[in-house]
Parts: sequence; structure tokens; C-alpha cells
Amino acid sequence: MSTMQLDIVTPERKVYSEQVEMVSTRAAEGDIGILPNHIPLVSPLDITIVRIKKSGQELQIAISGGFLEVRPDKVTILAETAELPSEIDVDRAERAKVRAEQRLVNKQDDVDFRRAEMAMQRAINRLNISGRR
Ligand code: ATP
Repeated sequence: MSTMQLDIVTPERKVYSEQVEMVSTRAAEGDIGILPNHIPLVSPLDITIVRIKKSGQELQIAISGGFLEVRPDKVTILAETAELPSEIDVDRAERAKVRAEQRLVNKQDDVDFRRAEMAMQRAINRLNISGRR
């Protein structure tokens, strides 16, 4: 089976760097599945999950926004944050979700509302791949 290089990096660290068979995620224009030899593409990414197929196994990584660059032999994801399921602190994500819920209820203005909504999405995204909601 043919493969391509996948690098997922954040400002803090290189989170993932492997040869993989497929990458799928939600880009700005919708869900996208990338196989080797895909046409070149650059797209922003939302708070979402990156699904990776490697050696026939599926792996998920939670990211909170960033950019996707596709070349025929290489996919690079520059993400604001990225975590593997094993790295996710579930209690922390649950606390972040509760805090965001409280802020959404007590919103002071639109800026607070938008920030709380984003924090909520990040928490839910992390809980989704950690197996708890
Ligand atoms: P919190 O309010 O708990 O800090 P947050 O969504 O505001 O959550 P971010 O700003 O997205 O946090 O991330 C800051 C750093 O903490 C990043 O390195 C991110 O990978 C890490 N991080 C955030 N939440 C978790 C979590 N639940 N488990 C593990 N790492 C996390």
C-alpha cells in the first residue's frame, strides 16, 4: 500500500511524524480525505479531529484550529494545539467544558460569548476522542 509523510506540529512541539496511508479531517470547505498523490492544497482547519490510517489501524488526533498543506507525497498540519487520545487529561477537559458552559450562561458581551463557545468546542473535541463526553 502506498504511503505519504504526515507531520502534525504545534508552536510547542512536533506531535506526530509518520508515513501513513490516509488522512481525513474537516477543512473549511468540508470533510476531506487525502490519499497519497493528492493534488496540492492549502486550507484552514477548525477545531476538529484528524483521522489517520497507518498500517491498517485508525488513530485520532484532536486539534484546535490551524492549517493543512497537502502535497502529493506529504501532508503537513500546523495546529494551534494537538493531542493524541492518550495525552488528553479528561478531568481537565470536563472542567474546561463546565467553565465554558457557565460563561455562556453569564455572557457579558459578544466577545465573551465567542470565546466561551470556542473553549466549549475545544473541550468537547477532546472529550470526543478520549472516549468520554
Ligand atoms: P484549559 O482551559 O483547560 O487550559 P484550553 O482549551 O483553553 O483548556 P488550550 O489553550 O487549547 O487549552 O491549550 C493549551 C495547552 O494545553 C496546549 O498545549 C494543549 O495541548 C494543552 N491542553 C489543553 N487541554 C488539555 C487537556 N484536556 N488534556 C491535555 N492537554 C490539554
